[in-house]
Amino acid sequence: MQAHDLFVTDNSCGCTVLPARVERGWKVPYNSLVLMEALESRIQEIGRELFGNVQKERPRSFNPRHITGQLMQWSMRNEAFKTQLFRLVDVLPVLQSSKDVASHIREYLGDGIAQVPWFLRAGARLSAAVPWLANFAARKTIDQIAQQFILANSPEEGVRKLENLRRRGLAFTADLLGETVVSEKEALLFQQRYLDLIETLSDVAKNWKAVSRIETSSFGSVPKVNVSVKISCLYSQILTTDPEGSLEILQDRIKSLLIFAKQNGAFLNFDMESTALKPLTIELFKRLLAEPEFKDYPHVGLALQAYLKSSEKDLHDLIDWGKEKNRRFGIRLIKGAYWDYEMALAAQRNWPVPVFERKEQTDAQYEKLAGQMLKNAGLIECSFGTHNIRSIASCIAQAQEIGLPENAYEFQMLYGMAEPINAALLETGFRVRDHSPIGEILPGMSYLLRRLLENSSNEGFLRASFADEKSPDELLKNPAEAAGPQPGQRSLIAFQNEPQTDWTIAANRERMSGAVRLWRTKLGRTYEPFVGGGTMKATEYRKHFNPARPDELIGVVAQADESQAQKAVGTAGKAFETFRYSSVESRVALLEKAAALLRLRRFELAALEMFETGKNWNEADADVAEAIDFCVFYARQMRRIAKTHVLLPGESNLHEYVPRGIGVIIAPWNFPLAILCGMTVAALVTGNCVIMKPAEQSAIIAAEFAQILHEAGFPPGSFAYLPGPGEKVGKYLVAHPRVNFIAFTGSKEVGLQIWSQAGITHPNQPHLKHVVCEMGGKNAMIIDSDADLDEAIPAIVNSAFGYQGQKCSALSRLIVLESNYKAAVRRLVEATSSLQVGYPENPGTIIGPVISAGAQNRIFQYIERGKSEGTLLYQSEVPAELQGYFVPPTIFGDVRPNARIAQEEIFGPVLSILRAGSFDEAIILANHSDYALTAGVFSRSPKHLEQARRELVAGNIYLNRGITGALVGRQPFGGWQMSGGGTKAGGRDYLYNFLYMKAVTENTMRRGFAPNETAPSGGE
Ligand SMILES: Cc1cc2nc3c(=O)[nH]c(=O)nc-3n(C[C@H](O)[C@H](O)[C@H](O)COP(=O)(O)OP(=O)(O)OC[C@H]3O[C@@H](n4cnc5c(N)ncnc54)[C@H](O)[C@@H]3O)c2cc1C
Repeated sequence: MQAHDLFVTDNSCGCTVLPARVERGWKVPYNSLVLMEALESRIQEIGRELFGNVQKERPRSFNPRHITGQLMQWSMRNEAFKTQLFRLVDVLPVLQSSKDVASHIREYLGDGIAQVPWFLRAGARLSAAVPWLANFAARKTIDQIAQQFILANSPEEGVRKLENLRRRGLAFTADLLGETVVSEKEALLFQQRYLDLIETLSDVAKNWKAVSRIETSSFGSVPKVNVSVKISCLYSQILTTDPEGSLEILQDRIKSLLIFAKQNGAFLNFDMESTALKPLTIELFKRLLAEPEFKDYPHVGLALQAYLKSSEKDLHDLIDWGKEKNRRFGIRLIKGAYWDYEMALAAQRNWPVPVFERKEQTDAQYEKLAGQMLKNAGLIECSFGTHNIRSIASCIAQAQEIGLPENAYEFQMLYGMAEPINAALLETGFRVRDHSPIGEILPGMSYLLRRLLENSSNEGFLRASFADEKSPDELLKNPAEAAGPQPGQRSLIAFQNEPQTDWTIAANRERMSGAVRLWRTKLGRTYEPFVGGGTMKATEYRKHFNPARPDELIGVVAQADESQAQKAVGTAGKAFETFRYSSVESRVALLEKAAALLRLRRFELAALEMFETGKNWNEADADVAEAIDFCVFYARQMRRIAKTHVLLPGESNLHEYVPRGIGVIIAPWNFPLAILCGMTVAALVTGNCVIMKPAEQSAIIAAEFAQILHEAGFPPGSFAYLPGPGEKVGKYLVAHPRVNFIAFTGSKEVGLQIWSQAGITHPNQPHLKHVVCEMGGKNAMIIDSDADLDEAIPAIVNSAFGYQGQKCSALSRLIVLESNYKAAVRRLVEATSSLQVGYPENPGTIIGPVISAGAQNRIFQYIERGKSEGTLLYQSEVPAELQGYFVPPTIFGDVRPNARIAQEEIFGPVLSILRAGSFDEAIILANHSDYALTAGVFSRSPKHLEQARRELVAGNIYLNRGITGALVGRQPFGGWQMSGGGTKAGGRDYLYNFLYMKAVTENTMRRGFAPNETAPSGGE
């Protein structure tokens, strides 16, 4: 049958309706113009009937006679305890020894021990003396929880249970547990597991007796075998920057599943995951179904999440697509399982919140979309995934309203979540499908935790109904009446970071591609020093080539000499005489203007970074965003600290910050815009005048930045752009007696030279020089024996190899606890082997070139040395066509703590792995370094996390996340020892580096008369 045969009438709203009569079930109002009230009262009626049927029984997960039910009860009493308990559940399956289990129970439950079930309590109390008992009790608990929500450990075991479900008249969709694949090896394994699952189920299904209520619908037959897939399990390198690249691979991988499903007549459903994957999932779905062999195969569907504000548009687009292609397909309407994650991510990234923020809005949207799906039931195989009786009743009432029979659609529920509701629907004659997860507990932990959270959620229907025992009246309230308007986006902190670009938005990807094309047309220009508001000629010029394509000229940069440096100092000195007295507000406005210009040229600047410094899309975008952050953040900080008054009767104290004078800004190439901009605008907003001496390798980006400062309106002379060799012009400026301070970020070698040079006070120098100095790092990350490797591996890869390891914060020493060494190393090597090496402007590239031939040689020398200092565990392949300065990501194992590759900063994609016998030893190894910049720990032991917080010696410590990517305002950045002078860029105190404080005290008393003073404006 062709899909169009099913369309019977087209009504005014463009929906396809069916005039079928309802054969059985609740009475139906036949009037096609049913009033909203009539529908509502029908929903109430159906809802009450359903409640009548389910109230006799509670789901096991809420039944205090069962372990899960007990834990739910305990956790719902106390939010803090719930967090601890769920974290404990998360870590327990990976713990290898009874001792570990016992200590984790004590660490997590501590004070809450009195509240936990007897077996955990006994286990915890006796754990020191009898650790096996704790182990036994904990594992028993976890097994019971898992059995509640996970159908079986393996497809073979699953078959028996699925047959039981069928015997009860329940259909199923089988789902393989596991979501995080960190490497292509894991992704391919997952693909094979799906193929095996379809094969196993299809083989046994051949002998299954037909169960007509679950195998027939008013639109034809319904497959016995139904499998749900998650696209994130099938490709480890999904990149939002490069949906085309990801689609190509995913299409291929899912196609093999679909071919197999079709051969076996099975249904394949695409689950929906986080919002970032939604456009890809929908596009993949459409592309696959457009392929000739699947054109007429109706047994394919996808999930749609009603909590997304965009879901209505997505549904309409899918309906239009289906009509255009004249094909039938499935939609499983659900509310969405990632609500907390989406809210947190939007807040952290300062992105618009994609989900509704009030539960009633999601519920109302669900009912609305259900109605639209049902009206298009001729096109859409409708399934409703919900445990909420109000939502279910609404689906039924709306189906009846348009005259759909009960087997024209189905309900789906998660295994173990709502057995009584499930049973009530079955009893009433509906087609009900259990979503049955299959797999081991470890890969299934995310799934399990989502179920625990869903059950215990304050806003969830199941809790309200079965734990809080709210009345049917309350639970059946019409959500549309309570939905109201969407609250505005909450601002969690006063300063908000510039959002990273959301690459799931096609327009953003197009803008970046356009900027890359534009830059290609601008290559080869000449850049000259900019001093006193105008450019200067030079005697020497240097050509800049693309590090990824060493024969591609990016531009020609003049090399300033000492006489030009002298002129820049003189001009700055002159400008300082007036700029120092400019108002704080005027300087703040200049920074805000600069931020606006950076924003305007955001993509263009990022594209230039790709060509000049080899940054990939994400790295380049983040660098420009950080530059904007520095402007906005320091402007605010200046306003905050400008003046303070301390007033007493008869005494006025003014604490005022005044600029130091002339500053030299010596910036690195690895964050070519952000660090240069940060140091420069901090000095300018505090009223100083500056000379920017950018790194030679990134002098063109610096020239663009100088242009932005000029356009923003900074007065001539307040800043100068002086490109040139550090050892000449840089050295000259540092030594100049009129220079008051130097802000430097770069290597330890140069930093130490500057530090000592600046310490020399010349005879004609009337001040002491101040140095703001940020140098390198040899940063460590500890992987504890209980670390979550699904989280740790991507974080390690990103921290060690992001921007080819050329970040001072980069991870270069990975310290792994012995018990986790083998697994961590295996997965790390596999994950690293999956990284794509290529040209930085290609949106699919992760690894680009290093900055120069010199850097490449130096890193290769370290790699050679590494071969004698450790075991070469892995080295990537660089494709032969890449002729630039590429260095393959390289991993050494069993590196000795004192080895040079474990002590010296390499500034390249080289990672040393060290073994540690205990957490104490791991901390000692991490601190065994001249540097103290960043450090990290992946652990799920509260005690170890606390120890790391206390004992790790580093300016920035990261727990359970990567160690790079500090954000302005949120993670003030900088270290001490050989990493720098301890100043924190992007922190509240940073501006003090560029200021002197003046305290002006006035005796305001005259002959015993003290005026009643109030503080003038401008203070804190
Ligand atoms: C068969 C089946 C398949 C599933 N497949 C998927 C899938 O592919 N992808 C997926 O994401 N989920 C999936 N789920 C999980 C599903 O999203 C949740 O089970 C569902 O949201 C719970 O909804 P409910 O109607 O049962 O419960 P209710 O308690 O009525 O609704 C809970 C839901 O409301 C939403 N919510 C909670 N608080 C708020 C708030 N403050 N503001 C706005 N909305 C809020 C959330 O979506 C939450 O899950 C599936 C569920 C089933 C039954």
